[in-house]
Amino acid sequence: MSDEVFRSVSKKLGLGCMRFPLTSDGAIDIETVKKMVDLFIKEGFNYFDTAHGYLNGRSEGAVKEALTSRYPRESYLLADKLSNGFFKKEEDIRPLFESQLAQCGVGYFDYYLMHALDGESYKKYCSTNAFTVASRLKEEGKIRHVGMSFHDSADVLRKILSEQKVIEFVQLQINYADWEDEKVQSRLCYETCVEFGCPVIVMEPVKGGNLSSLHPEAEAVFNTLEDRGSNASYALRFVNDLENVKVILSGMSSMEQVEDNIKTFKAPKPLDENEKDAIRKAAQIIKREGSIACTKCNYCTEVCPVDMPIPSIFAVMNRRDERSYDEITHKVKASACLKCGKCEKTCPQHLPIRRYLEQAAFRYEKAN
Ligand code: SF4
Ligand code: SF4
Repeated sequence: MSDEVFRSVSKKLGLGCMRFPLTSDGAIDIETVKKMVDLFIKEGFNYFDTAHGYLNGRSEGAVKEALTSRYPRESYLLADKLSNGFFKKEEDIRPLFESQLAQCGVGYFDYYLMHALDGESYKKYCSTNAFTVASRLKEEGKIRHVGMSFHDSADVLRKILSEQKVIEFVQLQINYADWEDEKVQSRLCYETCVEFGCPVIVMEPVKGGNLSSLHPEAEAVFNTLEDRGSNASYALRFVNDLENVKVILSGMSSMEQVEDNIKTFKAPKPLDENEKDAIRKAAQIIKREGSIACTKCNYCTEVCPVDMPIPSIFAVMNRRDERSYDEITHKVKASACLKCGKCEKTCPQHLPIRRYLEQAAFRYEKAN
C-alpha cells in the first residue's frame, strides 16, 4: 500500500506551512515564502502540508499565492486537513472542504487528513460520518488519499486503524526526544503503523524547533562529533532512518531553514554509531531538564479569547529567561488567563496550559 500512496513524492522532506515567516506587523511575509517555495521546488522537493486553521486561517491563502497560482498542478503534492474546530455536523464538512479547495486554489487535494485525532475527537469524527464523507470525496476524485494525523496512545491508534479502513496513512509526532516518551509514545505508535502496513508521515521531527535550540549540555554532546552538522540535521536524520516513514514535515520559517533542511535531505546519510549515541545522550539531557513540551503549533492561541501568547511564555519558562517575559507579555500577561480551558482542548500535546500559566504568573509577576 505504502508504495502506491506516496509514489509521487519526489523526496522525503515536506514543507509544513504552519510557521511561515511574518513581517514586523504580523502579516505573512509572502515574498520570502515565495522564495522558500521556489528553492524547495528547484531542488526537487514537491510535498506541501497546510490546514485550515494554520497561521490564524492564513496558511491556505499563502499556499495559493506562493505555490498553486505559480506552479502547474502536477508539479507539487498538497495535503490539507479536516480540523475539529471547523465543523459541528456532517452537513458542515462538504462546504468546508470546498472552501478549502477554493482557498488553496486547487481542484483536488493529493492528501486529506482527519486532523489531530485522539480518543476524544475520534468520537466526533465517527458521529459526524467524517470518514464516510472523506471516502465519497475520494470516489469523486477530490481527494487522492485519505489519512489522519494522530496524537494519542498506541492503543487508541490500534482501535482507529482497526475500525477505519479508509485510512491509508498516518501522520505521527516522531522525534528522538519523544521516541520513548510515555505520553507521546512515538515508537509504539510507529510500530503499530508498521504492524498495520500503514505508511507514516512524520510531524514535529525537530519538536517545534526545540531540538534545534538545544540545552548547552546537549549541544556539547553533538560538538564532540566529527563532521558536525546542524542540531536539526541530526533530528531529521533520526526519523529519516525509519523505513516506514515516507514523508518528513518540517515547518520552515526562513530561507536559512529551507537551505539547511535541503542540505540534509539532498543525500541523507544514515546515522553512524557515534551519532546514534550522541542522540541517546541528548534525549536523556532533554528529559532530565523537564522542559514544557510545547511545539509552538499555535493551535491554542487561535482559540484563546484574550490572545495569550502561550508558546512564547512557555519558551521563556524553558529558557528560564525572566528578562524577556515583560517584552513578550506587554499586551497580555499570564495572570490575565480566564481559565476557560479552551486552549487545553486544542493542544495536541495535552499540556496543562492553565497550570503552567499560573506558574509563569507566580514566577514573573509576583514582584509587580
Ligand atoms: S484558559 Fe486562559 S490561556 Fe487558555 S484559552 Fe482560556 S483564557 Fe486563554
Ligand atoms: S501549548 Fe499546545 S497548542 Fe499551544 S503552541 Fe504549545 S503545543 Fe501547541
